[in-house]
Amino acid sequence: MNKLVLFDIDKTLIASSTGHKAAFSIAFKEVYGVDTSIEVIQCHGKTDQQIIYEVLRVSGLDDTVIKSKIDLCMETMVNAFKKLYKEDNIVILHGVRELLSAFKKNNILMGLVTGNLEPIGRGKMKKLNLNQYFKVGGFGNEHINRTELVKIAIKKAQTNFNFTFSNNVFLFGDAPQDINAGREAGVKTIGVATGIYTKKQLESSGASMVVDNLKNTNYLLRYISE
Ligand SMILES: [Mg+2]
Repeated sequence: MNKLVLFDIDKTLIASSTGHKAAFSIAFKEVYGVDTSIEVIQCHGKTDQQIIYEVLRVSGLDDTVIKSKIDLCMETMVNAFKKLYKEDNIVILHGVRELLSAFKKNNILMGLVTGNLEPIGRGKMKKLNLNQYFKVGGFGNEHINRTELVKIAIKKAQTNFNFTFSNNVFLFGDAPQDINAGREAGVKTIGVATGIYTKKQLESSGASMVVDNLKNTNYLLRYISE
C-alpha cells in the first residue's frame, strides 16, 4: 500500500451525533459539577480535550482544576455515550460510502483523524458499519493537539502496515483546523465544504484542494492516485 488517506469524522463523513454532544454535558455535570454545554463555544474542528478546556474556562474553572479531572471526564463521556448510543441517529453524508468502497477496491490504506475520543469515534462508525475501512487512527484521547493526531495515525500505519511516508498521505476535513493540522504534519489536505466553512475559507487556510462534498468518487480517486 503506497497511499494513506485520513478522514475527519464530524461534518466530513457524518452529519452529527446528539449522543456525543449530550455526553459532554453529562460529564461536565458529573465530574466538575458544572451545568453547561458545548454550545457556549465554537467547537468545529477542535479536539474533545480542547473543547473540554474551552467550555469549562467559560464557566470560570482554571486549567489546573480542569486538568486534574480530565481523564475522569473523558471516561465519563465514553460511558455516557455508550448509554445514549442506541438512541443516537447518526447520518452519513452523501457519497461517503461509495468513496470508501472505491478507495478500498484500489488498495488504499485508510484511517481516521478525529478530535473524538476513540470509543466515541469508533462507535459512530460502527453504527454505520464503516469501521472495517479504517485500519489506523489518531483520536482525541491520544492528544489535545490535532497535528499530533495526524502524526499518530501515520505512525500507526508505519508500525502496523509497513507504510512508508513520503508525500503520499492525504487528509480530508471540513474545518480550517483539519487543514492546518494536515499541513503542519506534512500531508496533502482536501477541504470538504460540508460543515460550516465555505470552500473559500478552506482554500484560504491552505488546503491542497477543496471540494463541495464527497460525491464525485472518480474525481477524488484520480486525485489520490496521481
Ligand atoms: Mg469536522
